Amino acid sequence: MNKFIDFIITQKCNQNCTYCSQSKQQQKKKNHATKETIKAFFDFIETLDKDFEITITGGEALLHPNFFEIIEKLANYNFKINLISNFSFNLETYQKIFSITKENLNKLDISLHLDEIKDFSAILMKLEQFLKSKPKYISTTILIPIFKLDQIKEEKIKKINLIAEKYNTNIDFQHIRILNKFIKYNKVEEKYFSKKEKIEKSYAHYCSAGSKSAVIYEDGSVYRCYSSRFLIKNYLGNIKDKNFKLYNNLKVCTQKYCTCPKPKQYNQILPKKNYLKAFRNVFINYINMPLLVLKNKDIIKNKLEQFIKIN
Ligand code: SF4
Ligand code: SF4
Repeated sequence: MNKFIDFIITQKCNQNCTYCSQSKQQQKKKNHATKETIKAFFDFIETLDKDFEITITGGEALLHPNFFEIIEKLANYNFKINLISNFSFNLETYQKIFSITKENLNKLDISLHLDEIKDFSAILMKLEQFLKSKPKYISTTILIPIFKLDQIKEEKIKKINLIAEKYNTNIDFQHIRILNKFIKYNKVEEKYFSKKEKIEKSYAHYCSAGSKSAVIYEDGSVYRCYSSRFLIKNYLGNIKDKNFKLYNNLKVCTQKYCTCPKPKQYNQILPKKNYLKAFRNVFINYINMPLLVLKNKDIIKNKLEQFIKIN
């Protein structure tokens, strides 16, 4: 199975990470997907094969007022469901998710943002309870963004790691990216990525993103992947448009490096390359850049502010 749709059902979040690894905190208008967008989403996924995995994410997805209805409907449609949560809700809430989605819940990843955790001992206890009581068919990865590590944070990571090992659970350290680029780390921070494969050079490679996967934002706009806001050819349209569809063939990538989280895991980047097509797309993008800048001016401003704050 290497097909997936990520649906960002809300831009709202109850945490306030400086780096906001998903870029949501940097946007002024933080909205939930409306009923109209959710209906369009279900109309769209009805057209898909059942071998697409559907990830419901945010912001913090659980804040959406219709979160439970959405996952229940997805489970009734028999799609494999993946969820990501910042683990700020009580265990009963996660139990409720398990009982609604049953065996359709494939993955529930939890992201732990060390700067945002007020009571670390309480989180450790909750994590242990969660991993102990979680049904075996649900896989979980603990996602830890690496940011301004110090000794205290390293100690915390060690304690999380002990629990993860006890319950045979993976930890994935996340390399923070801003403006489609991974940030630079010092030697101590870098060691958390030493076992990861090198950053993928993706320029001119054919990639199945856009035909076998897509990212749907809360306003219904659909992009080929998470690195697409400033690439005009990677905008697929809006699911509220009746004629919306995914690409019907593979397209080349115009990014020098792929910073999207899933391509490796889903074997999206193919060895085959086409430099001519990539160059043509870069050229079309270059011509359209003023339009893209105008469309995304608030995001650019906020991202630059974030970049200055972090560096
Ligand atoms: S928990 Fe995730 S979405 Fe929320 S502020 Fe942090 S990085 Fe952003
Ligand atoms: S290689 Fe990465 S950046 Fe390029 S289109 Fe595919 S997912 Fe997007």
